[in-house]
Amino acid sequence: MKKAGVVGAGTMGNGIAQVAAEAGYEVTLFDIDEKGLTRGVNRIEKTLRNNVEKKKIDQARAEEVKERIHPSVDIDDLYDADIIFEAIIEKIEPKKELFTSLDKHCKPSTIFASNTSGLSITEMAGSVERSGKVIGMHFFNPVPVMKLVEIVKGEQTSEETFNTAHQLVKEFGKTAITVEDAPLFAVNRVLAPMVNEAIFVLGEGTASAEDIDNGLKLGASHPIGPLALADLIGLDTMLFVIETLYTETNDSKYRPAPLLKKYVRAGKLGRKTGEGFFNYQ
Ligand code: NAD
Repeated sequence: MKKAGVVGAGTMGNGIAQVAAEAGYEVTLFDIDEKGLTRGVNRIEKTLRNNVEKKKIDQARAEEVKERIHPSVDIDDLYDADIIFEAIIEKIEPKKELFTSLDKHCKPSTIFASNTSGLSITEMAGSVERSGKVIGMHFFNPVPVMKLVEIVKGEQTSEETFNTAHQLVKEFGKTAITVEDAPLFAVNRVLAPMVNEAIFVLGEGTASAEDIDNGLKLGASHPIGPLALADLIGLDTMLFVIETLYTETNDSKYRPAPLLKKYVRAGKLGRKTGEGFFNYQ
């Protein structure tokens, strides 16, 4: 495989494009929103610049990686990819519509990998003819830094697709864990209720945002506090993720914290909008 496509240039998509390009792939980075695409490309350039400044890579390597990434707002540019990573909004219907549309135009061998945080891979596979070529490859944020990829095998995912995904994770210099297609998979199943609970604690006035985060860092050895993590993930994405667990399990213990909904309704989405539980202006 030589060519990769990434759909969605947001928080995750631009990172996936970068690591794929670093692994030698020619990458088409596609977004429906031109501004979103520009932000994504700027983010990659900034990360590469930082890596040069920190002497992790030299300028020539940064240029080489940048040249392999081809930004596009034309979906046709994705059709000859060997693998397409989907990193759009965390809602099942848009993901299914995207796969249905790509299925009609991509070559039969193209693999569709979803970066969903916990939606059903099996359901996504049901929206295409090539259901054996649909798999979950769940990267973590920030993608260039975090080592883990959860590989999620849907009911119809073929052994070949599964093995290719494992091979890719190795090529990307990351480590895979294999998880079943269950709501929020393994890591977010543990992490998301903890973050949601931290937002309840803040909303109930038990402690300030700073104290909650310092508490978890100093008292539980977390490298980043749960509220700063929510801001990094994006509060809209965080809300979609916890809503999936709530609706899939029908268990009230997973209901989203009211304060999380309030922030999302106010457009305070965390780092990506400059404000969430903390200020990034
Ligand atoms: P984001 O909001 O930062 O970016 C989404 C991007 O997708 C936007 O630029 C948007 O314009 C674009 N987009 C939306 N619909 C599109 C379409 N139909 N075609 C092309 N582009 C489209 O979102 P994100 O945080 O990067 O999340 C993307 C996916 O990755 C979600 O499924 C999310 O659950 C998952 N994920 C997120 C994180 C995280 O920490 N944010 C971590 C792991 C997985």
